[in-house]
Amino acid sequence: MQIRGVRMGPSDIFEKHIADTIKKLIKKQNELRKSEERYRIVAEATKDIIWEGDLINKKRYFSGKLKEILGYDQEELEGLEDWFNIVHPEDVASVRSDIRRQIREKIEVEAFEYRVRAKDGSYKWLFSNTKCEFNDKGEAVSAFGAFTDITELKEQQKRIHDLAYYDSVTGLPNRVVLKEVVDEKIQKGNMFSMIFMDLDNFKFVNDSFGHLMGDKLLVEVGKRLREVDNDKVMSFRLGGDEFIILVGNIEGKEEVELLSKYLHKVLSSPFLVDGHMFHVNHSSGVVIYPEDGDDFQELLKNADTAMYKSKDSGKGTNSFYHSKMGREAVEKARIEGDLHKAIENNEFQLYYQPIVDVTYGRIKGCEALIRWNHPHDGMIQPDKFIPIAEENGTIINIGKWVFETACQYAKKMHDSGYRDFYVSVNISPHQLLQKEFTDFILSTIKRVGISSELVVIEITESVLIESMDLAIRKLKKLRNNNIKIALDDFGCGYSSLTYLRTLPINIVKVDRSFISDIQSLEDTRNMTNIIILLARQLGLSVTAEGVEDMYQLDYLKRHGCDKFQGYLRSRPVPETEFLNLMSLQAEA
Ligand code: C2E
Ligand code: CA
Ligand code: CA
Repeated sequence: MQIRGVRMGPSDIFEKHIADTIKKLIKKQNELRKSEERYRIVAEATKDIIWEGDLINKKRYFSGKLKEILGYDQEELEGLEDWFNIVHPEDVASVRSDIRRQIREKIEVEAFEYRVRAKDGSYKWLFSNTKCEFNDKGEAVSAFGAFTDITELKEQQKRIHDLAYYDSVTGLPNRVVLKEVVDEKIQKGNMFSMIFMDLDNFKFVNDSFGHLMGDKLLVEVGKRLREVDNDKVMSFRLGGDEFIILVGNIEGKEEVELLSKYLHKVLSSPFLVDGHMFHVNHSSGVVIYPEDGDDFQELLKNADTAMYKSKDSGKGTNSFYHSKMGREAVEKARIEGDLHKAIENNEFQLYYQPIVDVTYGRIKGCEALIRWNHPHDGMIQPDKFIPIAEENGTIINIGKWVFETACQYAKKMHDSGYRDFYVSVNISPHQLLQKEFTDFILSTIKRVGISSELVVIEITESVLIESMDLAIRKLKKLRNNNIKIALDDFGCGYSSLTYLRTLPINIVKVDRSFISDIQSLEDTRNMTNIIILLARQLGLSVTAEGVEDMYQLDYLKRHGCDKFQGYLRSRPVPETEFLNLMSLQAEA
């Protein structure tokens, strides 16, 4: 051996070898210390748990932030298997199978995410990066890696996910999820149904009690809906006061019909929110796939149309979609357009129905009822266009025209010698809530030149639902000016007997539905008696609507009802015909 050109003897060579080995050892030791140091520094600087596994002796050594992150001491998790005792039960199988695969397929570095139970019992999400070392025979002998605590990140991700997929007020899944679920169902091709629900008069809660209360009520509604959910039924909130109930794998309409009835029942018992009691009615519309639409968009649109049908037919009901509704919607849009021109084109006309004294059968006055002579469609009944006029605001001008025309009619009758003859005029809630409403009424009466005793104003309780205090103030002002107020359609809807006590009214008009049931239903009879009795006690006059036969009239006579209207005496008729009725009476 020649080193740097100097020949050496055997002992020199041995000593040199020793020295070299020592040097190497020292160097290695230094390196080792350095790397250990580095390792320690890295381990301490990192936010992670660092570990090293001896797969032969089945031991695991930790450094880094084991205590900080999970709360355990090194000794508690020393056995290689101990770790798996704290892995979340739902994750443990997949963690084990991932590790087995890493070893089987000799993958050196592998990353996993899973949950681990900390010492305090809470679960932490860990990101695990594992490196495996294999010997010459390809057996895994050791492993090491790092666990990063990603719990916060996971929570953030969940929050972002929830924000995108769940409604923040009720916690119900939202429209995005609904679309995904519906798309999936369409792909599978099974028959399913969507019930579109809209709470009635929810605006009233928001306006009168504030949005916070509105939200609280929505939360409660959401809770009840979630209780109905099962593996076939799932509730969603679309937004506002609109909900969708998705019913999977149905066999027919009947099933959905039953569910819809059940939903009405579930929501009908009152809600108690912050000491306030709310009765929540809702209107709903149903579509069935595949009958009522090919895709999500179309199904939703048609369900909405069906729901509006329910609203139009008096709220609190359920309607199944049918293709005719599409045409009805088109017709509605046409009517809406035509309404704007109807006043200037002089297409409206008032009909008058006699209001008759029950005891003597004499006509005391009349109710003015509007008709629309449509240039193409002929005579259109108010039920068909008044709700539309209320929606698009034309009711304000229509209402003014009605009131003015009715006053002129009252004057005409008065001037013809019917001195006490009065005209009763229907007033829409929208009109009443107008700022200048009372001024308009009083100035019109003055301008036409009649006594205010010859006009009656008919209001329905829906105006009270919308704005009780404001309505009462206005009605009081009218009543102080000798205008009589009638509460129309009493007995249907929210009608409460306490209204009779608290409202500034003079007349109660008992709804037609009561009168038509007088003969057949005992309950209705009792209710009618109570209304008449209470009204009379309070000094109110009672008018029965829709009297069609003598049985009804006799009954009302016996029970002290004051006046009646109905086909028994006459349908609503145009002015000229009404005069005939009056002259017939004069002769009698
Ligand atoms: P309403 O105020 O309850 O009017 C009574 C309705 O009952 C009238 O229907 C009348 O024709 C009908 N009726 C009267 N007697 C009988 C009967 O014996 N049997 C049956 N089956 N029905 C009877 P009409 O004229 O179709 O009016 C419907 C509704 O339209 C009215 O209900 C009222 O709410 C509204 N309306 C009518 N005219 C006006 C108006 O000028 N302004 C406003 N805002 N609404 C109006
Ligand atoms: Ca009326
Ligand atoms: Ca009525």
